[in-house]
Amino acid sequence: MIAERIVDFMLPNVECLGCKLANKMDPVHVIYEDAQVCCFLDIEPFNEGHTLILPKKHFLDVEELDPLTANAIMKASIKISKALKHLFAPDGISVCQNGGQFNDLAHYHMHLIPRFQGQPFYNEAEIDNTKEKQNLKETKTNLIKQLHVDQWRD
Ligand SMILES: [Zn+2]
Repeated sequence: MIAERIVDFMLPNVECLGCKLANKMDPVHVIYEDAQVCCFLDIEPFNEGHTLILPKKHFLDVEELDPLTANAIMKASIKISKALKHLFAPDGISVCQNGGQFNDLAHYHMHLIPRFQGQPFYNEAEIDNTKEKQNLKETKTNLIKQLHVDQWRD
């Protein structure tokens, strides 16, 4: 039933932190959103601009995503990757998602992580991201501006 599906879509799982974040029931630094996804800055950024893309509807793993949501996630990742490249000129962007036991949010999310040569990437030890954490508001403003600029460039 279409009506049931709409209701299902409109009601996030309030027990799930990812649903709350994606539907802005908890404070987040949103840089982009559409009907399916919410994209905001990771509060523990690996580098400045580290972004998370979350579906507004609850999913855990990538294979559960419906085609509409999967497309929205990929489109948002393309849009935001362009903005990250224009703004921070990283040597590359790592796109990753952790499934099952490794999904620390228990809600599907894709990471977009700007990276620089010579910087160790995978390390389970703590990283010093004090500066990136302090800059979250400024990073958000800059990324939103860049997304607007890019909109007219392509
Ligand atoms: Zn959820």
